Amino acid sequence: MGVPIPAAQAFDLKRRLEAIQRAKEAQSAPAKGPDVGRVNRNEACPCGSGKKYKRCHGAAEGEGD
Ligand SMILES: [Zn+2]
Repeated sequence: MGVPIPAAQAFDLKRRLEAIQRAKEAQSAPAKGPDVGRVNRNEACPCGSGKKYKRCHGAAEGEGD
């Protein structure tokens, strides 16, 4: 411990962590519409995003709220 991280290296590490975070989000985010049948717009989107369907893939179906 006690080894200082050069600013440039810390910055690079931060960028790597951000890239990893983005990759994770990309995996869980909807790349394209999941195979949904009829979904209650107030229920969680079946794509697994954790958002309500109307706030996720259902948003593409028009009529906001
Ligand atoms: Zn979705």
